[in-house]
This record gives sequence, structure tokens and C-alpha cells, in this order.
Amino acid sequence: MIQYLCIKPEVYIWKDKKNILFYNSITFQSVLWERNSESDTIVDALLDVKNFYSIDIGDKKDSDIVQEITKKGFGVIVDTSDKLKPITIPPVLIFSNRAERVLSKGLLFYDAHLVDYIKTITIRLSGSCRHDCTDCSSLFRQVTNCTKRSGLLTKEDLLKIRTIIHGTKAEKVQFIISSEKDVALLEQNQFIVDNSEQLVINYINWRNVSEEIIDRIESLSCQQLVKIVFKVDACILDDAQMLLRKLLNKYKNIIVCFLLSSDEDVALYQDLEQSLDITDRNEVHCVFNGNNHHFIETFYQMNEQELSSLQCDSDSIKTNQVINSEFWGSIYIEPDRTICLNENYPCFGDIDTPLYEILSKAFNSNDNPWLLTRKKFSCGTCAYRYLCPPINNLELSMSEPFACSSYHKSL
Ligand code: SF4
Ligand code: SF4
Repeated sequence: MIQYLCIKPEVYIWKDKKNILFYNSITFQSVLWERNSESDTIVDALLDVKNFYSIDIGDKKDSDIVQEITKKGFGVIVDTSDKLKPITIPPVLIFSNRAERVLSKGLLFYDAHLVDYIKTITIRLSGSCRHDCTDCSSLFRQVTNCTKRSGLLTKEDLLKIRTIIHGTKAEKVQFIISSEKDVALLEQNQFIVDNSEQLVINYINWRNVSEEIIDRIESLSCQQLVKIVFKVDACILDDAQMLLRKLLNKYKNIIVCFLLSSDEDVALYQDLEQSLDITDRNEVHCVFNGNNHHFIETFYQMNEQELSSLQCDSDSIKTNQVINSEFWGSIYIEPDRTICLNENYPCFGDIDTPLYEILSKAFNSNDNPWLLTRKKFSCGTCAYRYLCPPINNLELSMSEPFACSSYHKSL
């Protein structure tokens, strides 16, 4: 009789320099096991695809790791008398990025389907903001905010952008409004979004907002949502607080995105939350200002307990192995007419370039934010790399995997 240790199909196993992680994608239960020579022998055999996640356990049935695997329900011991080996075949998502083979034959149209992946199109109408915030050049790389990038889209450009929007299945179209000039441009070109299925969101920095601008946006023909971006440290100023109070009282369907960068901001935000009626009308984003590492560590990072309570189902684990769900499907059109997939990455064309060509170039380069996984980032081989939330713009702007407080330091 042979005894096989057989891992259940819903269980995932990862290894890094120090640990082995078992994770059940149905019960969300996990065990982090410190590596030793015995556990390495068993786990290496289990991780060898040729074994079909089932190994002859021999005399190791009573070893600590086998006991843990069976006791916690990650696997079972199967006795076989007829020498038939039980096997497990967990499904694996295979994502093809081998488009270059087809490209080498000049068959560019192959990538036309990539356009269907676009879900959000963000358009910065102009960089005509007249203010002068110190962190202007880094803020828009972290959150959908404002920009001083030079250029101004014209009526002809908006006609082309309309064709771009219509050629995709985008569910969301976002405009970044810097000034009244931008609103006037939208008023003259209301046709740019005429699909009632598409949600239109207008982002305005608090320094550029006025009641007149919101009134004019609300009277545009398609379904509109206005998001006002507030840096919380600005709320120390009485006039900023008054403006916020006035806007929230007058407009019931605006959303306020608060940007926090220090402990003082958190305290101020908590006061505002109590004194203003912002239930269901607020978003909070943590932002990097160049020297607030400590705040980000305490506010944003997860500790070991939080990491092990992450709940990922099988689909999200497979997705995390190949795509970045935070960036996937987003494109940005800048005031200088260029198009990029993320603010922190180079542009691959402009509004005159066919969109499938831009996506094709991105998919054939190493600079594709849609495919940025933790494995490619400095999380490297960390056992949690497919369970942690995807890399976001905050981590990109800090050039570090800041989602955790403990593991990456020990790698
Ligand atoms: S409001 Fe926005 S675009 Fe204007 S200076 Fe400040 S960060 Fe820059
Ligand atoms: S952030 Fe990176 S290093 Fe930290 S636990 Fe997640 S995958 Fe590991």
C-alpha cells in the first residue's frame, strides 16, 4: 500500500527565502511555515508540477509539516492498494503576451482585441491651472488630480477623442478640470460622451473649484458626477473649510476626495468628518509628499496579522499572477495629446496613433503597468506576492513595496 499526500485543488503554496505559505482560496485560511530541510523536501516535491500535487509520503507521514497540512485541511492522505496515483490539477490562468510573433509577420490587427480591455479613460483637458502647489508634479502621479502639463486640447482633438471613446467599451470617462476654460470646452463639445451607459466623472482640485463651475458641469447633457479633490492640510485655512462646507451643503451629489499626508491631516480629517455631513460622500487617499515615510508606514502598511487575514479567492490569486488589477484597463489622455497607460510610465503614442497600436507597443515592452505584478516589483519572491493587493501609484512614487511592514524587510 502506498500513501500519497494530495493537496486540494483550491490550495496554493508559495515559498520564499524564509517561509512557506499555504493558502486555501475557499476558506481563506493560511499557514506560514518557517522553512527547514524536511519541509523543503516535501514542499519542493509538491510544487513540482510533474507530480500533479500528489506525492508518495513514504515514512514522513508523522512529520510536523504533513500533520499541519492534513490537520488544517490543505491536503489529505490517500491510501492506495492498486498503485493508482491520486492527482490534483489546479487550473492555471495562461495569459498570452507573445504578440511579437504575430507582430514580426506584420499582422498588427491581431492586437485589436486589446482595445476591448479599456474600462476607464481619463482626459486632462488642459494644464492651465493658475496656482502653484509645491507637490504639483508628484501628486497627479499618485491620484487622479490635476496637472500643469503643458498643452490644451482643441475642439478638433476632442472630436478625435470622441472617436477613441466610441471605439472602446469604456464604462467610465473622467475629465480633469483645471479652470473655467476647460468647462467651456466641455460645453461646446457635449457630444464627446453620448452613451448613457458611460459614467462621467469630473475631478476638480479644490483650488480651482467654484459654484459656477459645478453648476455648469451639472447642466451638461450626460450623467455627471463631480469629485472635488481636497488636500486635508489646506483645510487648516478657514476659507478652505468654508468653501468645503458650502459645497457640501449646496450639492448633494458631489464626492470629496481627501488627500492625507500626515498624522495632523488624520486628526483634522476626523474633525471634519464629525462636523460635516459627508457620509457616503467621501474618499480618503494617502499621499506621499517626499518626506512622510513614517506616516505612510503607520497609516498604510499592513502588519503580519493583517497580511494573513487577506482574503483572496482563486480567481484573484490567478489574476494577481499576471495582471495588475489596479492599473488594468486605464488609459490617460494628456493636454499635449499624448496617451499613456499610467502616469508613471512612458507614453506610447498620441491621439493620432491607433489605440490598438499603443496597447500593442505597451504589451511588447517591459514598461506595461497593466502587467506590473508584485513578483516583478521589489516584492520579488515574497510568499505573499500573489495575495497582497496590487502595486499602486503610491508605492510606485516611493519606488518601494510599501504594502507591508515586515516581510519585505526580511527578504
Ligand atoms: S491645483 Fe493642481 S495643477 Fe494647480 S498647482 Fe496645485 S497641484 Fe498643480
Ligand atoms: S508588500 Fe510585497 S514584500 Fe510585503 S508582504 Fe506583500 S508581497 Fe510581500
